[in-house]
Amino acid sequence: MADDHPPPKRKSATLKRAAKAIAAAPGPAAKTPAVPATAAKTPAIPGAAPAAKRRAPAAKPKPAAVAKSPPEQAAGPKPKRVRPDTAYSEAELRALFERFRLANPEPKGELDHVNPFTLLVAVVLSAQATDVGVNKATGELFRLADTPEKMVALGEERVRELIKTIGLFNTKAKNTVLLARALIERFGGAVPRDRDALTSLPGVGRKTANVVLNGAFGEPTIAVDTHIFRLGNRLHLAPGRTPDEVEAVLDRVIPAEYKRHAHHWLILHGRYVCKARRPECERCVIADLCKFEGKTNSVPALGVTA
Ligand code: SF4
Repeated sequence: MADDHPPPKRKSATLKRAAKAIAAAPGPAAKTPAVPATAAKTPAIPGAAPAAKRRAPAAKPKPAAVAKSPPEQAAGPKPKRVRPDTAYSEAELRALFERFRLANPEPKGELDHVNPFTLLVAVVLSAQATDVGVNKATGELFRLADTPEKMVALGEERVRELIKTIGLFNTKAKNTVLLARALIERFGGAVPRDRDALTSLPGVGRKTANVVLNGAFGEPTIAVDTHIFRLGNRLHLAPGRTPDEVEAVLDRVIPAEYKRHAHHWLILHGRYVCKARRPECERCVIADLCKFEGKTNSVPALGVTA
């Protein structure tokens, strides 16, 4: 039995010594849990400070980039809008206008007139009115007054009476006489062959000026009316949100030799063939060239294939 007890005493003593030694010694087991504390103290280490600084900027780029982007965009040039352009190649454009030329070599406008002045007045009167309706009213008006001097002498009240079948006749009668007077006072009674001069006249906008420059003086201008605006967009010939945009594209893409008559060809095509509600593709001379997705025929009328 005496041999049974000593071992436990030795063991207990050994364990106690070991426990004391562990408790007294600054062993790694005691410091390991203090890793966060070590990390917190790291900046105090000379070599660690830059590391901490490097980490700080590493976390900032995102907000920094986000914050900088708007000012850069605001300060820089506005993003360019894609310029609308035709869907037709140069060869297709030539073929298209050559078809129009073959079908109608000398197209004419449909507003009756006898000189540049009466054309100018007729176009002013045609705003929001049909050419047929305007012609009915201007027959007598132009018989009585085919010059600015005669129009002024006729007077606003008489002009109003003569054009009362046309919409907005009150304003138009007033503008017609003002226009005639301005021509006398500023241009010696002649219609100026200049867009800026024309648009400075009462009741004359860019479209009216373009019609007069083209119809009276043979200038290669294109007046974008409702028909040309529709064709430009429907056929992808000259896409644009406004008449000015459509005009700019047409002016850029129509081959020079066709510009003189392009205005009339397009108006007449829109008025009588490529109509607003139902385009008559079966009798269209450019049916094979047309890029309108909704066209109902691809065979050109009249056998025109130039
Ligand atoms: S094919 Fe039809 S949609 Fe195209 S231009 Fe001719 S009429 Fe207009």
